Amino acid sequence: MSLGLAINTVIGRDADLGDGTTVTRLLPRRRRRSIGAWCFADDYGSLSVGDGPGMRVGPHPHIGLQTVTFLVAGEVLHRDGLGNAVVVRPGDLALMTAGSGIVHAEESVPGTGPILQGVQLWIALPDDRRWTEPIFSHHGELPEVELGGFVGRVLIGTLASATSPAAVHSPLVAAEIRSRSSATATVPLESDYEHGMWSLSGSVRVNGTLLERGTLAYIAPGATELLIDSAEPSRVFLVGGRPLEEELLLWWNFVARTSEEVSAARSRWEAGEFAPVVGYDGPPIPAPPLPQGRLTARL
Ligand code: MN
Repeated sequence: MSLGLAINTVIGRDADLGDGTTVTRLLPRRRRRSIGAWCFADDYGSLSVGDGPGMRVGPHPHIGLQTVTFLVAGEVLHRDGLGNAVVVRPGDLALMTAGSGIVHAEESVPGTGPILQGVQLWIALPDDRRWTEPIFSHHGELPEVELGGFVGRVLIGTLASATSPAAVHSPLVAAEIRSRSSATATVPLESDYEHGMWSLSGSVRVNGTLLERGTLAYIAPGATELLIDSAEPSRVFLVGGRPLEEELLLWWNFVARTSEEVSAARSRWEAGEFAPVVGYDGPPIPAPPLPQGRLTARL
């Protein structure tokens, strides 16, 4: 069996969500800023939320991006400044388009622990869609496709014969791919996309390379398939997209292009000019101070 193209690996880092919960940040990293328009990826790992308040991320603003939330275990209550209060359950896709600006808060739902497991990713909106109206969409019904001994659940874009109903603004794919036992699969890829894959649970090899937990496998454009195999029940997360040709400026919760845009969004937040979240029991998160001198990405 051919092992396919070699893959590069990028090691994630611990990141604090600001409420004491620590997650693994896989994007952006110094060696890998984005994969297609995917510009941010947090893996919650297996957060213990049974004993304490769980995950509680208070109201904070976003501009210029879409957030993707996908859970494997536990439940998260999403509230936003459009008036949505939605419980996100395992297998659902929560897709929030910030566009010109939106505020949201996220908290694990009491009694749905003891473990919260899942991911949150950001999609950079292309330049001509950045100032769109904010919208939140919740997809409970998502297509699945058999891939050898694995099943792919397609969250964004198309994988094999299955296409997600979720609306995105650039060529992208995202899927959870899981097996109930030892299994092998050939995963078809768009050859003009770059891709990333990481393990959500279990031990999986990609093109023959073991995917350690907390490590992102990067697959450059040109690959038409990936070979995955596991010796046990396992889950991986796949993202892909056409490589970005735009230079992004990520600062705090903003995806911008210039430091002036970041500074304007920060001022709007500090002045209370975003539509607020109603019903969250806690204070909004203050923006960090702007650094002296030229603004650069906070990684
Ligand atoms: Mn957020």
